[in-house]
Amino acid sequence: MARAARPLVIAHRGASGYLPEHTLVAKALAFGQGADYLEQDVVATRDDELIVFHDLTLEDTTDVAQRFPGRQRADGHYYCRDFDLAELRTLGVGERLGADGRPRYPGRFPGAGGRFGIPTLAEEIRFIQGLVRASGRIVGIYPEIKDPGWHRAGGIDIGVKVLATLEECNHGGMRLPVFLQCFDPAELQRLRSRCDPALPFVLLIDSAAGPPSSGELERIADYAQAIGPSLKLVCPRWTAGEGQATTLVADAHRAGLAVHPYTFRRDDLPAGVAGFDELLHLFLLRQRVDGLFTDFPDLARAFIDRHLPG
Ligand code: CA
Repeated sequence: MARAARPLVIAHRGASGYLPEHTLVAKALAFGQGADYLEQDVVATRDDELIVFHDLTLEDTTDVAQRFPGRQRADGHYYCRDFDLAELRTLGVGERLGADGRPRYPGRFPGAGGRFGIPTLAEEIRFIQGLVRASGRIVGIYPEIKDPGWHRAGGIDIGVKVLATLEECNHGGMRLPVFLQCFDPAELQRLRSRCDPALPFVLLIDSAAGPPSSGELERIADYAQAIGPSLKLVCPRWTAGEGQATTLVADAHRAGLAVHPYTFRRDDLPAGVAGFDELLHLFLLRQRVDGLFTDFPDLARAFIDRHLPG
């Protein structure tokens, strides 16, 4: 089982509570804040390069609409897959906007605060290898294959290309700890036989799917080492300061799976939760999850060091 002695702090898109998501500065800050793993979401460009970017579309976190007017599809969206890497390199990345065009998390990094770009997956891994080399502190990477079926329909086998990029970056470089994550179970099953059997896979599970049964967890354990459920699947309700948890964590542990729920945000707490530490207390001390995805790696690090000293 891919369970660590202490719960892992996984920096969700970097220290994205403090700097725009998936920028190298957000990864550097998360590294400095003591994260154990730095997350990469991976999508493909028109010229089949892999970039670290969360959405299939560009407009919610970049200035694409200003720089490339008219390049949207009929649905009004600007797709990463419709732009070459050289074009994407000209974009500025900023804080995520909501559907109303205003910052999704208003207290975060201000829009005029800097100019940041989109890294490729290989660039980001080299960057992290550099941080590890310069500091002597190990950190892992945690790439997510985004929408493999959608990418395959568009002519690229993104899962195989992610594996190849990991291999290339290992070659002659530093071998960092890795978890490979995806929402698509068929993709992980397909890739299982195509990579190092020791590479741990994480099946992501969103809240709409509902918690998997014990039988389903056993089948997942045939090809994955961990699940990454929405935190709502672990604790769907809070009443009077008490989390009403499901049996998911215990069931997954019985099936031999580690549990890394998402997403822990100080500025977006589940309804009924009084504070971030209360949320961490339930998941880390009572449910005993094996790691968590957070936009605030410094806060999770401090909580773990205080309550679960190594
Ligand atoms: Ca992700």
